[in-house]
Amino acid sequence: MDRQNTRIAIGIIVAICLIAALCFWPIGPAEADSGHRPVMGTFARVVAVAPDTKTANRCIEAAFAQIYKVDQLMSDYKDDSEISQVNRDAFKRAVKISKSTYEVLQKAVQFSKLSAGAFDVTVGPLVQLWRSASEANSVPTDTELQDARSKVGYEKLILDANEMSVRFVVDGMKLDLGGIAKGYAIDKAVEAMKKSGALGAMVDIGGDIRCFGTPSKGKSQWLIGVQDPSKARDGLDPGTSSLVLRLKDAAIATSGNYRRFALIKGIKYTHIISRKTAAGAEGLSSVTVISEKALDADALATAVTVMGAEKGLTLVEKTPQTEAILITSPPEQKFIRTSGAEKYTKY
Ligand code: ADP
Ligand code: MG
Repeated sequence: MDRQNTRIAIGIIVAICLIAALCFWPIGPAEADSGHRPVMGTFARVVAVAPDTKTANRCIEAAFAQIYKVDQLMSDYKDDSEISQVNRDAFKRAVKISKSTYEVLQKAVQFSKLSAGAFDVTVGPLVQLWRSASEANSVPTDTELQDARSKVGYEKLILDANEMSVRFVVDGMKLDLGGIAKGYAIDKAVEAMKKSGALGAMVDIGGDIRCFGTPSKGKSQWLIGVQDPSKARDGLDPGTSSLVLRLKDAAIATSGNYRRFALIKGIKYTHIISRKTAAGAEGLSSVTVISEKALDADALATAVTVMGAEKGLTLVEKTPQTEAILITSPPEQKFIRTSGAEKYTKY
């Protein structure tokens, strides 16, 4: 009798242990979240889904290694970057550049042609003129504007694929990769994570985002919050209002003059400049582009901001697997979407 009781007791204990083990046993893949790290003049965050925590963490570090590398090559804020070196010397001589920088410049020229110069990677002289104007709190003179404009134009950029070099036709030209480098860095980070064994991931640099594969927290899609400037009226924090997009394998980029602009004598100037007018792009307060690659989404969002709603929408509509959500400038703040954008916002 005693023996049988002992057996039953052991049986019960084993069963309890088994149930407890099953309850606490991790089911599904592991996840890691980098939190926000400062880079490229903004913050980057990476989330990795992988078979185990160690792999997930390794994927995050692989992603950041790529992001830091792109920043080091392409920032015009760093004196020792490849782009700064090109900006100093490319009129005097052809400057050899890395495969990565060459690839981005090639893509940049492609988007310049596609947007008839609305996106222009040589916009540097105008961007810098407006940057110093806002620091000095005085609008540039016509002569200054004309002078800067004469140094802008992707047609004045010579890329030599054999030599992998870049050259300027006009003295004083300056490259500015601010409208495309974040997208490129995101794509490189995604590639690195796939190679490192990620089952899924989300890479966010300053609100430009790409995700792929298994979504976070067992969801069926990645849920991506985009700031909605239509709610970012005076006195309201734009960070509190957002539009949620549902993505699987896709990238989004937002260009907006609601977030980054200069105030010169109380007048707003956006940091996105049209080479045609030599002034800030007006008409759209926010442009979100959804595409396969982050580089394309990034460049197109900047291009559409300059092109305006009508021409911008036409360009996006004829670009395969690409959609856009636009918000016009105040006071109208009209919401406009391309025909296929709805599927990303539907619940
Ligand atoms: P954000 O930097 O706010 O994410 P964008 O991706 O649109 O927005 O990039 C804006 C940056 O692109 C500017 O800060 C500047 O460095 C650069 N830029 C400005 N005007 C143009 C233009 N017409 N074509 C290409 N790049 C531009
Ligand atoms: Mg951009």
